Amino acid sequence: MPEGHTIHRLAARHRELFAGQRITVESPQGRFADGAGRLSGSVLRSTEAYGKHLLHHYDRGTVHIHLGLYGKFADGAGAAPAPVGQVRLRMRTRRNWLELRGPTACEIVDELQVKALVSRLGADPLRDDGDHEAAFERIRRSPTPLGALLLNQEIVAGTGLIFVTEVLYRAALLPTTPGRALTHEGWQGIWGDLRVLMALAVGTGRIDTVRDEHLPEAMGRAPRVDRHGGEVYVYRRTGQPCLVCGTPVRFAELAARNFYWCPVCQH
Ligand SMILES: [Zn+2]
Repeated sequence: MPEGHTIHRLAARHRELFAGQRITVESPQGRFADGAGRLSGSVLRSTEAYGKHLLHHYDRGTVHIHLGLYGKFADGAGAAPAPVGQVRLRMRTRRNWLELRGPTACEIVDELQVKALVSRLGADPLRDDGDHEAAFERIRRSPTPLGALLLNQEIVAGTGLIFVTEVLYRAALLPTTPGRALTHEGWQGIWGDLRVLMALAVGTGRIDTVRDEHLPEAMGRAPRVDRHGGEVYVYRRTGQPCLVCGTPVRFAELAARNFYWCPVCQH
């Protein structure tokens, strides 16, 4: 599933392509036909992301989109291509088009539903209104491992396994550390680090978490080869040497998720 930086990038991309314009909205597949009919011909006012949720605000209503595991956007310039496959949502102007396939959610929501959605979500490190103190209140009372707490979208919104794995490495904390063992200072460090790393990923479109001195060119090592791209310390590096101490990176399942850590650097 895409992590929050991808959704924030999509919000920015859709704003750039369509904001302030009257949009033809369609649902070639038919499953969003009612919503498309209601919005088509109205102006897209703005777009925004909350964690992994995307909102398109039109003057006649708001579309809530959650990509889930299989959702995918495509866009382009010029006339929209004939729809191929299950296109849930299509947006077009004379200049640009966009298609959405396979989302978990694509629905019209009213203001109360937007409020309810946002109130269920935790602090988003990519938003300035992210309430990280409220997140800490949840974390410091919990015996649950930090690895699971930081993935809980009701506590922190937008983080996925790569950011959580890497931010815990950078904080020198094991993913199994119980939430209640985290100090306020420790939390401030993690939160600040998430904000920096995730903002960087919004800019580049990939997740890089290693410090300059651990980049391939600085260490004279080959760049990482992985479909996720990006240079990381431990994520999916099981058995490979830790970039800092050389100890083989460990792997285990925790709360039904995969975790990676260095047994020497994290304790
Ligand atoms: Zn290490």
